[in-house]
Amino acid sequence: MTTEAPCRACRSERLEVFLSLGNMPLPDALLRAEELQRPEPRFPLDVAFCPDCSLVQILEEVPPEQLFVDNYLYFSSFSESLLRHSREHASRLVEERRLGPSSLVVEIASNDGYMLRNFAERGIPVLGIDPAPAQASAAEESGVPTLPEFFDAELAARLRAEGKRADVIVANNVMAHTPTLNSFVEGLRILLADDGVVTIENTYVKDLIDHCEFDTIYHEHFSYFSCSAVDALVRRHGLFLNAVEHFPALQGGTLRWRIGARDAVEPSARAYLEAERAERLTSFGYYREFGARVEGIKRELTALLRDLRRQGKSIAAYGAAAKGSTLLNYVGIGPELLDFVVDRNVHKHGLFMPGVHVPIFAPEKLLEERPDYVLLLSWNYRDEVLRQQREYRRRGGKFIVPIPWPQVL
Ligand SMILES: [Zn+2]
Repeated sequence: MTTEAPCRACRSERLEVFLSLGNMPLPDALLRAEELQRPEPRFPLDVAFCPDCSLVQILEEVPPEQLFVDNYLYFSSFSESLLRHSREHASRLVEERRLGPSSLVVEIASNDGYMLRNFAERGIPVLGIDPAPAQASAAEESGVPTLPEFFDAELAARLRAEGKRADVIVANNVMAHTPTLNSFVEGLRILLADDGVVTIENTYVKDLIDHCEFDTIYHEHFSYFSCSAVDALVRRHGLFLNAVEHFPALQGGTLRWRIGARDAVEPSARAYLEAERAERLTSFGYYREFGARVEGIKRELTALLRDLRRQGKSIAAYGAAAKGSTLLNYVGIGPELLDFVVDRNVHKHGLFMPGVHVPIFAPEKLLEERPDYVLLLSWNYRDEVLRQQREYRRRGGKFIVPIPWPQVL
């Protein structure tokens, strides 16, 4: 199936759709009890591949204000593994780039300041950029100056006019969130110092496809990147993909791309680009079978949960994030199969999952109620959650890990 909408990156009109997840509610639009009777907005969710620049993308564009400002409850500081990963990254940048009191580190989508704090503590000037008001003010309170705005070429030009050039720009898990990719990358070019470095982290589309991580596809993620897609994108803006690192355990498989204004392509970047061509991530065939595999997970998981229910088992779920919402809504897991969801984020307690309307509680409820099974929606934090829930498991509780294929632990 081809489509009329042009590619978000290169404007090609030859996009090819390879997965349709149906009409889905916004995954982070958690509901209050009094909102359960009202109709929820739903949007189609179709995923396509661009044969001209290799970018995988969804076709629909929900306005970003609706996605990231009104209902956005994600606070980075709730994840221990993310905090550790950020600390290590910051230390390396300080050392390698010899950052000091005259440097400037800018982070796009700085959330509650979890990353920039590592630089600020060492006396290195920082600037956060994040449009979510609660997160931006949490960052300010912890000593991280933060502009509550979306990053684009216009904002970058304004900052540069104020005399700001960044020695380091960090953009973690945000490039996928921007519908205006070209303005975003142009903004990087404008704000970056001539010898500066941009480090971008995002989940890797190869991991998504190979491990069937379909639940990371939702309206907040407009694009799904390979190195080939990133290389093509940044080159159009006079930037270079110079180095690539892979973190297989982070968010189901994350890449860190180092981008600069100078052509200093390292062997790591060359190797990834070559491997992607060899494995044909740059052609539609790589993606074609994905839809059928996703339907297989849906069938298997539905059969497993229905069977457990028939045996009179109680079932809860762990992780009220967008990923969990996507899986529950796509597979069709509502109150008839699921008693409740738990999440560590206190801002979510007392609310309900979008679409399927299952209530959200604190993780302590697992020990209080001791459900027979817990569906692990946040499988990307699998080791962390299993460690935290040692006591629940010791008392006989079991976890169901849905991805890459349903499995009981
Ligand atoms: Zn394209």
